[in-house]
Amino acid sequence: MSIKPPQPAPTWDHRPGEIGTLIKDLIAKDRLLMDKIAALPAGECNFQSLALSVAETDFDAVAEPLSFYQNVSADKALRDASNEAEVLVRDYGVESSMRIDVYRAKVAAEKNLKESGQWEKLSAEEKRLVERMILDGTRAGLALPKEQRNQLTTLKKELSQLCLEFSKNFNEEDQRITFTEKQLDGVPKDVISGYTKRTEGSEEVYDATYKTPDIFPIFKFAKNPDTRRKAFEGYESRLEVNVPLLSKALNIRRELASILGYKTWADYVTEVKMIKNGKGVIDFLDDLEEKLRPVGLKDRETLLALKKKEHEELGLPFDGEFYIWDYRYYDRKFIESSLDLDDMLVKEYFPVTVVVPTILDIYQNLLGVRFEEINGTTWHPEVQQFSVWEKDSKDESGFIGYCYLDLYPRSGKYSHAAVWPLLPGHDNSDGKRSYPIAAMVANLAKPTPDKPALMRHDDVVTFFHEMGHVFHGLLSHTKFSRFHGTSVARDFVEAPSQMLENWCWEPQVLEKMSSHFETKKPLSPELITKLVKSRYVNVGLFYLRQVFFAKFDIKVHTSSEDQDYTALWNSLRESISLVKSGKLTPGQGTFGHITGGYDAGYYGYTYSLVFAADMYATIFKADPLDPARGKRYREKILVPGGSREELDSLKDFLGREPNSKAFLNELFGSQSANL
Ligand SMILES: [Zn+2]
Repeated sequence: MSIKPPQPAPTWDHRPGEIGTLIKDLIAKDRLLMDKIAALPAGECNFQSLALSVAETDFDAVAEPLSFYQNVSADKALRDASNEAEVLVRDYGVESSMRIDVYRAKVAAEKNLKESGQWEKLSAEEKRLVERMILDGTRAGLALPKEQRNQLTTLKKELSQLCLEFSKNFNEEDQRITFTEKQLDGVPKDVISGYTKRTEGSEEVYDATYKTPDIFPIFKFAKNPDTRRKAFEGYESRLEVNVPLLSKALNIRRELASILGYKTWADYVTEVKMIKNGKGVIDFLDDLEEKLRPVGLKDRETLLALKKKEHEELGLPFDGEFYIWDYRYYDRKFIESSLDLDDMLVKEYFPVTVVVPTILDIYQNLLGVRFEEINGTTWHPEVQQFSVWEKDSKDESGFIGYCYLDLYPRSGKYSHAAVWPLLPGHDNSDGKRSYPIAAMVANLAKPTPDKPALMRHDDVVTFFHEMGHVFHGLLSHTKFSRFHGTSVARDFVEAPSQMLENWCWEPQVLEKMSSHFETKKPLSPELITKLVKSRYVNVGLFYLRQVFFAKFDIKVHTSSEDQDYTALWNSLRESISLVKSGKLTPGQGTFGHITGGYDAGYYGYTYSLVFAADMYATIFKADPLDPARGKRYREKILVPGGSREELDSLKDFLGREPNSKAFLNELFGSQSANL
């Protein structure tokens, strides 16, 4: 028996020609509303009169699905129209975020609320909304005098130009590095056959690009250390052209921070994150480095012993050093010799037709929900659509929202795995509820003539992770859309999904979700053990490398003056990652995160892992499939979304302040006792 959802599913029958009109109408409507708000006499501004949150919601509800088509539609004209629509939406976003008249109305509203005593009557979420709205404006510089605002605009344009140029160079880099067949000894034949072969003098040589599929096999397989060194130094130097651009961008960020009243760019960026300031990042990374160092040293010792042995066997000189170009090579050798894990064999146990429904089942039981497949219209016949309900719901009050799964590759489709929160949930002004919609877009394998569609274990982990975002988007319940679901601080948003990845490493769960495509048997305990063991191989060196990137990022965004970034890059790498460098290489020119939106944010990847590990170890580890624990997770982490401080949600969930013990325990395994 099916209950009728209180909110109809959206239709997906837009034609390319109408998208532009719909968006333009929407923008005009919103602009009019903003004009009205701006025109209010200061004395009449109050919480209701702002009406901004509602406007924001209506706007996204129309705009989001329309700009989604560009990622999933099979119709190129529709994708193009959707893309053009998104450009309009973005431009409008810039325009409206810079409206000083609207900002002044917000400030007036806050003042009136506080002076009239109304402020105390607002809920915590309502207060947070007003504060966040005003903070947006202040951070954009709207509280500054006109001259400084103009200065900000000029600098921001210049900065975005520099960042664009940086990434353009990154994308268009097309140099070659040349080796003889002898120099490439060890590199797989099928990789070499992909290089361009030509004759130079009397010798045949191969030109390799610096793209991952060409160059990484050299790092991983070339036996001759000189080949690896040459390849590495070329690779690190390939974007020297970006060095002055980065330097300029950092100077502009310093100026921007100072105009906006922040000590450093990192303080500005992290103000709206969980970590709150640049010093927090530095302390976090210092502490992590100190704790990781002994593990990394031990990893290095193991790999160095391998190197010594191999150099003796091959008759190569050995100077007792472990170089940066040795890392991937000996890491690979160590994994091969110690693990004996066959990826291709593991894959045979994960047919898509088994894994996907099992993962849905796990989530449904854990979080107390029910998926019902429905046959409405979608953007493509392969897409599955579900209405999502409370597990035991008997009437429409148990409705949660809609979910789409668009799992298989096709031409013109977004090529990775990601989740689009198409509609946020929120209360309408009439008191009724607007329900959320989330879409998962992935590119799982398709069947071949002799095998069904199979997933690598990596793919299983990714799918589980992404479904974590889907449930964050479905199960959140906030009054305002601004705080819905994954609208949390950027250095926290990955933590829930990173935590959920742990299920894919639990023997009982692996057994449950695996079924060999021929024998129908689950993974053997022996294979499960090998798989689980593979998770933490050489993690000390791996995470120290992450700490190096994060420290470079935070150093350049907290220092008060320009410096020699090439020297900084090389010295930090050597001291943190525990690998020796050769000649100085301008690797910072290849560090796209720093101009691609992750500035003063690289730490976030490891930072959220710490919370993920703490949540898992503290609450779930003892019984990961227990619905009571799932309920607690749902109530304390998923429901509040961004409507309160992430740290408060974590404390509520854990019953104490979070800490990094679980994360370190995970990495150190049994040797953790004394740390
Ligand atoms: Zn994610």
